[in-house]
Amino acid sequence: LFGGTFDPVHFGHLRPALELAEAFELRTLRLLPAHRPAHRGPTGANSSQRIAMLEAAVQGVPRLAVDTREARRETPSYTVDTLAELRAERPEATLLFFLGLDAFAGFADWHRPDDILALANLVVVERPGTPLPDAAERLIERQRERAGETIGDGATGVIVRADVTQLAISATDIRHRVAAGQNPRFLLPEPVREYIAENGLY
Ligand code: ATP
Repeated sequence: LFGGTFDPVHFGHLRPALELAEAFELRTLRLLPAHRPAHRGPTGANSSQRIAMLEAAVQGVPRLAVDTREARRETPSYTVDTLAELRAERPEATLLFFLGLDAFAGFADWHRPDDILALANLVVVERPGTPLPDAAERLIERQRERAGETIGDGATGVIVRADVTQLAISATDIRHRVAAGQNPRFLLPEPVREYIAENGLY
């Protein structure tokens, strides 16, 4: 699972996602857009628009899929609940949750982080321009000592770092460019750029 807001999805998400799916030999890596209230704000897309952009982005791409369960819910849900749901659906599965360094830096403040680690493993993806805070570095070291460096069958609680092609692209930057009337082409898939233009997003 690769969670995020994906407002909009861009190559900084997609290229790492594909590389991770290949590196971990995943049949499917699911991009998991988070819940968002039904009406979009002035600076963002609503859930169905974010889903539409993600689906356009992964169309025909082997190994990448979109999991819409959180985005379609009426109320916000926590990562821990989604992981528990997946565990119930697929008791045998080894769960991997991918997140960028910036997201991982705040992981200790997520809802029930220990329960997340009891269900799943974390793969921390390098992201340009994000130094890892000391506390996060120590968390990775602690996990490494306890559980080893690899995520074997049935593992939970392992935290590893993954090297991926570094693309300094952010959704915030894309939204700002679009708002300023600039062309976001080559930062994100062409069908996503077209969707943004056709729907007057951002
Ligand atoms: P924003 O700029 O609005 O914060 P974002 O580009 O960070 O958006 P998110 O949807 O918040 O996109 O990110 C989803 C996940 O993808 C997070 O775990 C984030 O760390 C990771 N991520 C986003 N952009 C990159 C990138 N360029 N390289 C590596 N990881 C990324």
